[in-house]
Amino acid sequence: MRIDLHTHSRASDGTDTPAELVHAALRAGLDVLAITDHDTADGWGEAAAAARETGLMLVPGMEISTRHRGRGVHLLAYLPDPTYPPLAAELRKVLDGRAARVPTMVARLNGLGIDITADDVRRASAGAVASGRPHIADALVTLGVVRDRTEAFDRYLGWGRPAHVDRYAAPLETVIRAVAGAGGVSVIAHPWGRGGLGRPEEATLAELQAVGLTGIEVDHQDHDVAARARLRAMARDLGLVATGSSDYHGAGKTDHDLGCNTTDPAEFERLLALAAEASARSGRSTPQVSSHCDDHRPA
Ligand code: AMP
Ligand code: ZN
Ligand code: FE
Ligand code: FE
Repeated sequence: MRIDLHTHSRASDGTDTPAELVHAALRAGLDVLAITDHDTADGWGEAAAAARETGLMLVPGMEISTRHRGRGVHLLAYLPDPTYPPLAAELRKVLDGRAARVPTMVARLNGLGIDITADDVRRASAGAVASGRPHIADALVTLGVVRDRTEAFDRYLGWGRPAHVDRYAAPLETVIRAVAGAGGVSVIAHPWGRGGLGRPEEATLAELQAVGLTGIEVDHQDHDVAARARLRAMARDLGLVATGSSDYHGAGKTDHDLGCNTTDPAEFERLLALAAEASARSGRSTPQVSSHCDDHRPA
């Protein structure tokens, strides 16, 4: 069983359509794929339709942009009802905040002498629910200003760079509770790296677990061998689910090929069992994993 629980499509800042993502996962020999676009369930329908006639099990998820003690933290949510009002309201605020800053960032780039328009960004965002910095980066690549997304972030768009503009991020603990209320489970993405908790102490993870956190992403390209060992030990001590994933963005991120990190099948079974419990407790109508293999469905 090859299980990859963190991937992006064009619904956010990946470069594959949701259907292309499913086919790429099959070519990569994956058995289980989670689609986890930033702050949206928009790609779920197309991905599920593409997966339906295949052997691939699709797990609907998302990666939510949150804030905790002044840091931006990415929270993976699996199998939540995305229409649960407290969750939907936070997602809407993040997406609106992302779209609302585009004119300001374009104006800052213009101020640096770069001839870019909001239309250039819109064209680079085709299929996405909101234009983010990666789409501005893609527009800069198309205009020949930079070679790739990395250079765009390093020179203009990253934290502290001249075209950077902050946006709304949802309070982490609020979102953990909202995901649980929506009948889903939550996993901190790349906790040791950028967009993570820094180098979290076990006590910090225990606090978040008390709020309802289900797991942490241990095997991720942003984590070296020592970070993985430390996170795995903390997950074991606390009883948090430990996942591993690629964070695939298609051509939008190098060195994140599908299946480059995977999740242990036993950990995945625990995640699904906890999701089934959360779903029952919530009383919400939660999404199902899609698979032609009935024995993979959560009880
Ligand atoms: P936004 O939410 O619009 O600010 O964009 C966040 C996205 O930008 C996430 O997908 C990050 O992975 C990506 N990102 C953040 N920093 C960098 C960077 N230095 N290089 C490439 N991508 C980045
Ligand atoms: Zn991304
Ligand atoms: Fe992330
Ligand atoms: Fe991601």
